[in-house]
Amino acid sequence: YISSAMARDIIGKKENKIKKWRDKNRKKGKTCDIKLKPELYIDMKKDISVIKGYNVLGFVEGTDKKDEVVIVSAHFDHLGKRGNDIYNGADDNASGTCTVLEMAEAMARAKSEGHGPRRSILFLLVTGEEKGLLGSRYYSENPIFDLKNTVANVNVDMVGRTDKKYENNPHYIYVIGSDRLSSDLHQANEDINQKYSQLTLDYRYNDANDPNRYYFRSDHYNFAKKGIPAIFFFSGTHKDYHRTSDTAEKILYDKMERVGRHIFHLTWDLANSEERIKLDSRK
Ligand SMILES: [Zn+2]
Repeated sequence: YISSAMARDIIGKKENKIKKWRDKNRKKGKTCDIKLKPELYIDMKKDISVIKGYNVLGFVEGTDKKDEVVIVSAHFDHLGKRGNDIYNGADDNASGTCTVLEMAEAMARAKSEGHGPRRSILFLLVTGEEKGLLGSRYYSENPIFDLKNTVANVNVDMVGRTDKKYENNPHYIYVIGSDRLSSDLHQANEDINQKYSQLTLDYRYNDANDPNRYYFRSDHYNFAKKGIPAIFFFSGTHKDYHRTSDTAEKILYDKMERVGRHIFHLTWDLANSEERIKLDSRK
C-alpha cells in the first residue's frame, strides 16, 4: 500500500479529474486501469522487525462423523497501536471473535450434556488478517486436520455495526461466497435463515464484478482457494472502519446476537446433516 499523500504526488495535477472519474465509476460498480505519465524512482530503506503471531484453535470433537471438520473462523488481530493512537477494532474484529467464542462455548456445552455435533468443529481464531490474511494462509498450508475432510469454512468478520444503506434496518447481513463452490452451502444458509433467523440476506458483495472484491479480502478466501466451500458473514464498512473510533459502545449488540445465532444454526446444520455438502460449482 502507499499513502494518500504519495498517491497524490504520483497523480500530480490530474488529481481532481481522476477523483471525479473514480466516483463516477464507483457508482457504476466498475474498475479499470488508467495510465499515468510520471516515472517513479523508488529509494527506500527497509526496517524489518519480525513479529510472531499465533492462531488460537479450539476443537469440539464430533461423534459418528468426527473425521470430518467444519471450520468456524474469525481474525482476532487488528491494527494495534500507532504512536499514541490505539485502534480498538471493536467491530473489526472483536465482533467476529466474540461470535466464534460464544459458539465454541455453546457447542462445548452441548457436547458435555451429551448432544454434541456429529462432525467435529474447529474454532479457528486467526492472526495477521490485517497484514494480508496471514494466519488463515498459514493454517490452510499447514492444516491440523486434513483439508480433504474439511467440509466448509464459516468466516465472521465485522458483524456488530450497520453500514449507511441499512442504518434503519440493522437486522441484515452481507453473505459472500456461499454459492461459489457449493450450491448446498448456499441453500443451507437460505433454509436456516427462513427457519430461524429471518435476517435480510444481502448478496450484493458476492457479485463477481463487485469492485470491493470482498470475496478475496477475508480469511475464508484461503480455504476457498483450496477448494473448501466457504461462506463469509459481514455487515459492511462504516465511518469508523480502520479508525481509532471503532469502539465497543458503538456495537449494536442485539444485531450481533441475532447474526451470531444465525451463524450458530448454520454451523450446527453443516456439522449434523446426513450428507456433507457437495462441491458442485466453480464461480
Ligand atoms: Zn476484519
